[in-house]
Amino acid sequence: MKYDFLVVGAGFFGAVFAHEARARGKRVLVVDRRDHIGGNCYTETVEGIHVHRYGAHIFHTSDRRVWEYLNRLTEFNNYVNSPIANYKGQIYNMPFNMNTFSRLWGISTPDEAKAIIESQRGAVTEPRNLEEQAISLVGKDIYEKLVKGYTEKQWGRSCSELPSFIIRRLPVRFTYNNNYFSDRYQGIPENGYTAIFEKLLEGIEVRLGTDYLSERETLRPLAEKVIFTGPIDEYFGFRFGPLQFRSLRFETEILDTDNFQGNAVVNYTDRETPFTRIIEHKHFNFGTQPKTVITREYPADWQPGDEPYYTVNDEKNNALYQRYADLAAQEENVYFGGRLGEYKYYDMDKVIASSLRLCEELL
Ligand code: FAD
Repeated sequence: MKYDFLVVGAGFFGAVFAHEARARGKRVLVVDRRDHIGGNCYTETVEGIHVHRYGAHIFHTSDRRVWEYLNRLTEFNNYVNSPIANYKGQIYNMPFNMNTFSRLWGISTPDEAKAIIESQRGAVTEPRNLEEQAISLVGKDIYEKLVKGYTEKQWGRSCSELPSFIIRRLPVRFTYNNNYFSDRYQGIPENGYTAIFEKLLEGIEVRLGTDYLSERETLRPLAEKVIFTGPIDEYFGFRFGPLQFRSLRFETEILDTDNFQGNAVVNYTDRETPFTRIIEHKHFNFGTQPKTVITREYPADWQPGDEPYYTVNDEKNNALYQRYADLAAQEENVYFGGRLGEYKYYDMDKVIASSLRLCEELL
């Protein structure tokens, strides 16, 4: 056989595995059906700006090993994610913190904010739906202005019809701290994400525009083992039916202004604005280019064939996934990984850690 490993998918799971395998002297072939490497983390340069084609990606982790691993491949800047919410023209800081509360209620101390939230929480102990859950966590005002419309757009359903488990926690902070994440490390790669993948895949044969599943007969015999990071249900020909996803539609525009919204991420939290947020990509890298690139994000229902973004890990889909996972466990010398292979929402750091674990197991 020509290769030890055939890696399907050049996203983080596949690229990290391929890199480690090559570093240990293995012969590796990577295929991806897209025309670029990087999976959903891919960035392309437009007007000198790193544009996140598949949605904004902010790297954050508390895993020192993963942080150091990536820092060997890229320089991170000191970007701190502090999104803002636009509710019918009123601007609020996110995540919900003293800046938000002060703006909502004209108060200044944590005690005042706690008292207002407490008085609005109601007496629900067993929330029956997302609306009750959210109100019991953050009170009525925050729910109505900052949670309701956004969540309904995201899921395409009213909050009173959505299950409460979708929102287990809503971070509420009684300090004036706009840092969205509470992880130890955070930043955006100075040279964009794609440059990381170029380094990971240096010296490795990569065939783009190659769909493993439609060329399985010619590709499978080339390698002893396969690492598959595509959709697990598709691998098995949707034999038990398709796993469900939520999708997104992106509308990207180049604007002839150097600063459109003053922040990388602005959420539109009312129900009427059809998109959920606008990303202004240059602000991830503190860009000073004369133009700007913005992307409006529209949540979308997903049909088989659409780009799968968010897994829908409800009972039904988890049970269906388990049936596919049982089949996968019987598949000799094929290993499933990553967000599509494991049908799971994975942040970048978690997917890298998971790939490194598979490396330890197999290499
Ligand atoms: P992917 O990146 O999806 O890579 C899988 C690759 O496999 C794709 O390139 C695909 O083309 C290829 N493939 C699939 N099937 C086949 C086939 N049959 N043949 C050949 N190739 C195939 N994480 C964070 O940490 N921070 C964030 O801010 C963040 N923002 C996100 C925003 C959005 C909108 C989404 C959807 C995710 C976000 N994530 C974020 C998560 C991040 O995108 C994932 O952790 C990461 O992309 C997972 O990498 P992966 O290798 O598992 O999958």
